[in-house]
Amino acid sequence: MRKHIYADNAATTKLDKDAFDAMIPWLTEYYGNASQPYSFSRDPKRALSEARKTIASCINASPDEIYFTSGGTESDNWAIKGTFFANPSKKQIITSPIEHHAVLNSCKELSTIGVSTQYINVDSNGHIDSDDLISAIESEKSSLVTLMLANNEIGTIQNCIRPQIARFIHQHGALFHTDAVQAVGHIPVDVEKLGVDLLSASAHKFNGPKGIGFLYIKKGVNVHPLLNGGAQERNMRAGTENIASIVGMSVALQKQCERIVQNALYMDSLKKQLINQLKAAKISFILNGSDCLPGLISISFPGFEGETLLHRLDLMGISVSTGSACDSTNTEISHVLEAIKLDKRTAKGTIRISLGINNTYDDVDCIFHSLVKILEE
Ligand code: PLP
Repeated sequence: MRKHIYADNAATTKLDKDAFDAMIPWLTEYYGNASQPYSFSRDPKRALSEARKTIASCINASPDEIYFTSGGTESDNWAIKGTFFANPSKKQIITSPIEHHAVLNSCKELSTIGVSTQYINVDSNGHIDSDDLISAIESEKSSLVTLMLANNEIGTIQNCIRPQIARFIHQHGALFHTDAVQAVGHIPVDVEKLGVDLLSASAHKFNGPKGIGFLYIKKGVNVHPLLNGGAQERNMRAGTENIASIVGMSVALQKQCERIVQNALYMDSLKKQLINQLKAAKISFILNGSDCLPGLISISFPGFEGETLLHRLDLMGISVSTGSACDSTNTEISHVLEAIKLDKRTAKGTIRISLGINNTYDDVDCIFHSLVKILEE
C-alpha cells in the first residue's frame, strides 16, 4: 500500500511518542483529581505544577502566569472577552482582518453588546501597518489590541509584535494580546521580547495532544474568568484539571523548544526542495506571505482550483489544505487571501502545504511529482 503523506501540520500535528508515553500513567494509574486534599492527589498535583513550570520556561514566563485551557480557541475567547469584562467601560478592540476566526468571532460576539472592532490594514504579505495601528489607538476607548504572531494560512510572522509597540499600547491604557497558536513550538517565543500581556497557545499544533492549550496572562493584568465553577487555575478557569494532556503538552513543547533551530532549518530545507523542484519544472506559481513560519507554504497556481488540487492530491494519498483548516466547510475565498488583496483567480488556485517534523525529502518529492501530474493534465 502506498504511504500516506500528511502535509497539513498547520491544521494539526501527530502526537509525539514521548508526550504520549508521559500521558499514560496519569490516565491509568495516577488518575486522582489534582484538586483533592488526600495523598492520592499529591502526584497529579505535583505533575500539574511541574508541567506549568516547564511550559512557563519555554516562553520565558513565570509559572503563575500560565493558565491551562482547552486550546487555542478557548484561549483567544478568554483573552478577548476576559479583558473586556474586566474593564467594560472601554468599548473598542483593535485587531487585524487576517486573524483566526477564534479572534474575529469573539470580537463579533462582543459587538452584540456595543463593543466596536477596528481592523488594522495589512500589506500584500500580511504584515500589519504599524502606522495604522498607532493612529487607531484611542486612550479612552481602546481596551485591547489583539494581533496574531504568525498567520495560519500564509505563515507570515508579524514583526510589529515587539516592546516598542507594546509600550505605545500601554501608554494608551490598552492591553496587548497575541494569538501565538501557530508560532509556539515552531519559532522562539519570549513574552518579554514580544512585550505582550496575553498570549494564546494550543498543544496540538506542536505535536502535543488535542483539546489542551494555555493562556499566558502577565502578572498584574486584570482578566475576568471565562468559565465559572470550582477554584481551579487560581479561581480563573474552573473545571477539573486534565493532567494527562497537560503533562503531554509540556513534554511536547519542551522537546520542540530544545530542537527549535534544527527543526526550523530542516523544515526550510524541505520547503526549498519543493520550490526548487517546481521552478526547475517551469511550473508557474506564486508564493504568499513573507518572513514565514518554517514549513508553511501558501502557494497559488493561478487558473487552477485549489479545491480540485486538494481532492486530486487526496486521491493520491496526500493531505494538504486550501484555506484555513479550521474552516473547511467554507468554500468562499479565505478572508486572509482577501485581506492581502490577492486577485480572485489567484486566490482560488491557492493551497496550503504545511510540512512538519515527520515529513521527509521523499515526501516532498512525492508531493512535487503529484502536483506536476495534476497541473500538467
Ligand atoms: N488560532 C490560530 C492561529 C489557529 O491556527 C487555530 C487553529 O487552527 C486556533 C487559533 C484554534 O486553536 P484550537 O484548534 O486549539 O482551538
